[in-house]
Amino acid sequence: MRYADGVTRAAGLDRPVGSLVPRTGPKFEALGVRTAGDLLRYYPRRYADPSRLTDIAGLVIDEKVSVVAEVRSCSGVLRARSSGKLRVEAQVTDGRSVLHLAFFAQREHMAKRFVQELRPGRRGLFTGKVGWFNGRAQLANPEAVWFDADDEGAALEHAARPLPVYPASAGLDSARIATAVQLVLDPLRDGDVPDPVPAQVRDARGLGDLLPALRAIHRPETEEDWRAARRRQRYEEAFVLQAELARRRARAAAQPAVARPHVPGGLLDAFDERLPFTLTAGQRTVGEQVAAELAQPVPMQRLLQGEVGSGKTVVALRAMLQVVDSGGQAALLAPTEVLAAQHARSLRAMLGDLAGGGMLGGADQGTRVALLTGSVTGAARKQALLDAASGAAGIVVGTHALLEKTVQFAELGLVVVDEQHRFGVEQRDALRAKASAQPHLLAMTATPIPRTVAMTVFGDLETSVLDELPAGRSPITTFVVPAHLPTWMSRTWARVREEVARGGRAYVVCPRITGDDADGADLVADEPATLGDQGATPRRPPRAVLEVVEELRSLPELAGVGVGMLHGRLAPEEKDRALADFASGAVPVLVSTTVVEVGVDVPEATAMVILDADLFGVSQLHQLRGRVGRGSAPGVCLLVSGAQEGGPGHERLRTVAATLDGFALAAFDLEQRREGDVLGASQSGGSTSLRLLRVTRDGDLIEQARADARAVVEQDPELESYPALRDAIEALLAGEREEFLDRA
Ligand code: ADP
Ligand code: MG
Repeated sequence: MRYADGVTRAAGLDRPVGSLVPRTGPKFEALGVRTAGDLLRYYPRRYADPSRLTDIAGLVIDEKVSVVAEVRSCSGVLRARSSGKLRVEAQVTDGRSVLHLAFFAQREHMAKRFVQELRPGRRGLFTGKVGWFNGRAQLANPEAVWFDADDEGAALEHAARPLPVYPASAGLDSARIATAVQLVLDPLRDGDVPDPVPAQVRDARGLGDLLPALRAIHRPETEEDWRAARRRQRYEEAFVLQAELARRRARAAAQPAVARPHVPGGLLDAFDERLPFTLTAGQRTVGEQVAAELAQPVPMQRLLQGEVGSGKTVVALRAMLQVVDSGGQAALLAPTEVLAAQHARSLRAMLGDLAGGGMLGGADQGTRVALLTGSVTGAARKQALLDAASGAAGIVVGTHALLEKTVQFAELGLVVVDEQHRFGVEQRDALRAKASAQPHLLAMTATPIPRTVAMTVFGDLETSVLDELPAGRSPITTFVVPAHLPTWMSRTWARVREEVARGGRAYVVCPRITGDDADGADLVADEPATLGDQGATPRRPPRAVLEVVEELRSLPELAGVGVGMLHGRLAPEEKDRALADFASGAVPVLVSTTVVEVGVDVPEATAMVILDADLFGVSQLHQLRGRVGRGSAPGVCLLVSGAQEGGPGHERLRTVAATLDGFALAAFDLEQRREGDVLGASQSGGSTSLRLLRVTRDGDLIEQARADARAVVEQDPELESYPALRDAIEALLAGEREEFLDRA
């Protein structure tokens, strides 16, 4: 972290780390530690508790242990005769018993490094899981923290204290990191480290000062020490992030918007009158919230969450109509062409003659729905552009194509973003910039996001949730199908055939398009718990659309049943054609990638078969499943997988099969995944801003920090009197970190 103010410079916190530890400087930089100040926030990953150190004599197989011991002998580099793998073996002793260690290496130089480290006589702390090998207990690849000659005295003196264990790297072990941290920490005096958390907030929350907290984290005397200090630093992280989000929110709110109040007797009222169903309680409540916010001269900034099929589109359409009634236009931004086209179709269908504005047979007060995507060309495109620019189209639906310069609006008053998480802030803003005043914003997402994550990732938006499905929705039953059992597979395809015979349609989803796309391009980027997961167990490559289509077309179970396909590499006409044939029933089985995940709405679809289902994330499976059972017939979802029974992949699938509650699944997903995956790739590296904060566990802290940050920003929007907070935010936004916030 770089601090710009004079105090800090005097304390030397912006010194490059290389000036402190010249030899290991580059290695620290590789860990994301660039300055002395960065070192202070390079926190231990955990603490070894010496009071819980294990006697070598008392080791229990399969338990994780930490032992303090001295190296007695080391084997040198050994090469396995069969596999050629390299390993180094050592014996260590605690003075009474002997323990065997084994270190495995890919490369010769790594193995040699182990030999160098395992010098007889050297003492260290070894942590690992006790295994059983060749008739004796062994730690394989234990983590080693060395007590070197000059700090052995200190190590013994502090033997009773918790021992910080830092995330180390090759050539930079925990002890060396600890030494470098102390080099920075020791000379610091009170006030040397500027505290991003304002004094009044610290007082109100009973938080201690920063410097003592840093000392307690890096050199704790007791477990309580580091626990309290880490909690304080978790709060600091939450607070800095929330302060930035509050500042963004305040900035947007400070720009005037045009109030778009409800106009009685307008399109909205006409639409409500002919609505063929009654709104759910949730749709009514959210609708009122949205209507009230649109009526204010302050831009609405709202995120609407709701499961697939919960009726978000109706809420959005009602908001758009209110805006059109009061003289504005609405733009609906969708992530794919398929979705944009479908939105335009279903909006037109819902509006009926209300969408025939200015046309023969259209209602007097009607407006138009224009569609602008990359594949709308020629005269149709010209007309759509004209309708948008003249205002004849009150509603303009499109993809990224809407962002192009040639697209002009007469009076853009509302931007609706579907599947918000697929768009960056610049895209949202590019669209908003097409309005003379700040337009209102309604973002929608079908991915259920637990509240604390929403507060972190979408912290500048207010959230509403539609948590009930409209009445009359059919239940979906989900089964896990073992891919290696031929009778089960045969039954799966027979079931598909039965659904089709009953007038239904079936989706068959595959992880990939072709057998050779190594990139897995069609796996959705925000669900990384997938291909990389396969770990040690080698398996055949994931199923691919092109190969599965061929296979299904020749299956006896599906003889005479049309099988089509849909994926990202098809031309737009081919995609439209495939969807139309599927919707009409001409080709009732559709093999596709996850392009069907979001929004595609075919009420007759009753079966969803997902191949290699364990390669998809839990939330994604739930989303996919939401594609069926949208009509009156019940749906079935078959999760086909070769994942081992009892393994984590199989467990995930059973969880999906066991509940239809999207929020429960999202929470489960969150627990399963690393934090970095939750918040975006940029957060998983070493130099992340959220080092200690865990959105899964720290909900209370995040809520407090958000309230505190909003209060501070309200009273000082540009944080003029909080230079340390401003600097911390700047550091947060620096480089790769920006990417993460931009998702909001
Ligand atoms: P979402 O966008 O949240 O996936 P939609 O708005 O597309 O959901 O709604 C899914 C389907 O349910 C649509 O066919 C829609 O017409 C219908 N629908 C929406 N609200 C209701 C309701 N209150 N009662 C009955 N059907 C509804
Ligand atoms: Mg939708």
